[in-house]
Amino acid sequence: MKANVLVIGGGVGGLTVALKLAKCGVGVTVVEQVKGSPHMYKGELVQPKTLQIFEKNGILPKVLQHGHKINHIELIEKKKLDKKNKQPIQSMSYNILPNPYNFALMIPHEILKTILLEEAQKYPSFKYLQPGRFMGFEGNKAKVRMEKEEVLLEADYYVSAEGRKSKVREMMEVPKKEKNYDHHFLTVTFPRPESMTEGKIISTDDTFLGLFPLPDNLVRSVYLIPKGSYKQMIEEGLESFYQKYLELCPELDGFVQRIDSWKKIQLMIPVHYHVSNYVKGNIALLGDAAHSVHPMAGEGMNLAIQDGDVLGELLCWMYDKDKHSPDYLSYYEAVRKPRVRHVLKLSHLSALAYSRPLKSFVTWRSKVMDQLTNDPVLHIKHMLNISGLGIWKESIVDRVIQSGVVPKRKDHDERKIDRRHLFTEEEDYPWKNKEEA
Ligand SMILES: Cc1cc2nc3c(=O)[nH]c(=O)nc-3n(C[C@H](O)[C@H](O)[C@H](O)COP(=O)(O)OP(=O)(O)OC[C@H]3O[C@@H](n4cnc5c(N)ncnc54)[C@H](O)[C@@H]3O)c2cc1C
Repeated sequence: MKANVLVIGGGVGGLTVALKLAKCGVGVTVVEQVKGSPHMYKGELVQPKTLQIFEKNGILPKVLQHGHKINHIELIEKKKLDKKNKQPIQSMSYNILPNPYNFALMIPHEILKTILLEEAQKYPSFKYLQPGRFMGFEGNKAKVRMEKEEVLLEADYYVSAEGRKSKVREMMEVPKKEKNYDHHFLTVTFPRPESMTEGKIISTDDTFLGLFPLPDNLVRSVYLIPKGSYKQMIEEGLESFYQKYLELCPELDGFVQRIDSWKKIQLMIPVHYHVSNYVKGNIALLGDAAHSVHPMAGEGMNLAIQDGDVLGELLCWMYDKDKHSPDYLSYYEAVRKPRVRHVLKLSHLSALAYSRPLKSFVTWRSKVMDQLTNDPVLHIKHMLNISGLGIWKESIVDRVIQSGVVPKRKDHDERKIDRRHLFTEEEDYPWKNKEEA
């Protein structure tokens, strides 16, 4: 069997690249090892750039239909709130971004995958082999174990979209530096009060609870725990787990208790790494196979989809123009690597802010977050940088203001985002102009 492109891994990244290829008529086969849909939580927050990609792929209406819009995320320092007994003043607002992608969306991961898969299946050049487990390369062919047989699949290009434990990455011997953290997370979805419609992060000296509303009056929660304390928490029982949530968010009384088994609560271990090369010969790494980001900023799934968009567009162009040198794949790395590096850095810094339970650190974090969300320039830069729609780097003045040494700027200083800060079509797909000039 021969495909133009073989995608190994049918996660969100693999399906995005495959959908693009299917749409432009390039023969693409996806092999996915898991039969059916896995019951594992894998990210549900869709950032604005990803919404823009969905619009181009024609799936945005369906995604919106199954998602819950997030306009802002409130940041609540529990202690401050108790003392002054007033509402939080820190809020990260997506609405300050330019229309129409001025919101984020929460959608169950498996529903999003189904939408991508069903759309790709409409095109005759798309093939989906499930369960099909990639076992290694034999010469220039991929060995794939199906239910009853092992087959050799040959392709012009191979895309490794197998997630964190990528076998292809190992075989390519691409170095990656890994950072681990002093905390883990517990994550679980349960019913929410109807009035809880926006995101919240409630923090104390030594933990935080993230609450992100899903459709059907559900909420995804993410709770920070010290590394290694998971077993002890199970021993303490569900009642003690409920109390921890209720101390941080009393509004959840009567809702969190509807989690009836520890089996529904998943342990999440944050890891941070970035490979040195995305491409070797005719093989490209994508999504978690190439990088893993701390879940704090809800970016991993988005980075995988954004990788898939750029790589898919490039491969479509290579087939369309009959430009068949793997050297062209370097465009993919040139576009994606610096963008991913920037998001990884931002997520790592936010993770550190919540990592150390030192009192002075907590006070500093509160100040930093206050400056970030209330200084108009810092706020818009931060929202743009996490949205994926562009990069607007912080200046030294911004850093000084953020640290709290210098006061915040006034509201009337708010700057509008202009074209210089948003990625243009030429920046997303630079080969089109360069190679066709
Ligand atoms: C617990 C958890 C919470 C997260 N929360 C968020 C969040 O809130 N927001 C966010 O944006 N991101 C989040 N992420 C990260 C996000 O889920 C990943 O970054 C994203 O799923 C990466 O997509 P991917 O397609 O690269 O890899 P994956 O989604 O991991 O998909 C890889 C696919 O490849 C398959 N596969 C693996 N090996 C083989 C093989 N040998 N042969 C065939 N198939 C294979 C796997 O079965 C899987 O289906 C979270 C991740 C985890 C684990």
